[in-house]
Amino acid sequence: MSQEPPEKMMFQLTLRRRGISDQAVLRTMEAVPREAFVTAGDRGHAYRDSALGIACGQTISQPFVVAYMTEQLKLQKDHKVLEIGTGSGYQAAVLSRLCTHVLTIERYRTLADSARDRLEALGYFNIEVMLGDGFDIPAGAGDFDRIIVTAAMEQIPEKLLERLVPGGILIAPVGPHHGTQTLVRMTRTESGFERKELVDVRFVPALPGIAREL
Ligand code: SAH
Repeated sequence: MSQEPPEKMMFQLTLRRRGISDQAVLRTMEAVPREAFVTAGDRGHAYRDSALGIACGQTISQPFVVAYMTEQLKLQKDHKVLEIGTGSGYQAAVLSRLCTHVLTIERYRTLADSARDRLEALGYFNIEVMLGDGFDIPAGAGDFDRIIVTAAMEQIPEKLLERLVPGGILIAPVGPHHGTQTLVRMTRTESGFERKELVDVRFVPALPGIAREL
């Protein structure tokens, strides 16, 4: 018999009902304790399928969107993944259980530091949290099998696409900063890029530069 509390069982049911079918992704969503990534006041809502506020006016994404983006990335065990927009570190934790290494970049020092501490305390040792600007990834970070952007971009920068290895996949919410965006999946082919529009989403904006406020 499962010892899962009812809200965690509902959480899994909601993800399945909304169309998440990849078993590895579902198991991962079950394994990562979302309550450890939300604010103390929101612990009781951690398994609701909604985005929640975190520090610096940012948000932890809705679980369905985290699961959906993860599923669309078609991760393999040996993949090296880049995430832009660490926020709470929750999406990075989900990714890290399905691949070799995650580099996640955040423009707020407060968020980067607390996500790093949280992920370490939870035992995620294959995630590197970097304070930086996702529009300006250091060359030394190399190229990536997968790139996931978790903040809204008005367009996908060419420079970012160039960091994908052949066969690589990038997923990003693309559209106006305030309003609805479309999740776009770009696959690097031998001759260029294949673009597919997936679903409508709402993310906080991707802004250039390291945040001046903490
Ligand atoms: N993936 C996060 C939620 C992301 S919210 C989670 O699982 O909790 C979006 C995050 O992107 C915010 O924390 C915001 O500060 C960050 N962000 C916005 N623009 C950025 C940029 N240019 N570089 C890095 N991070 C950025």
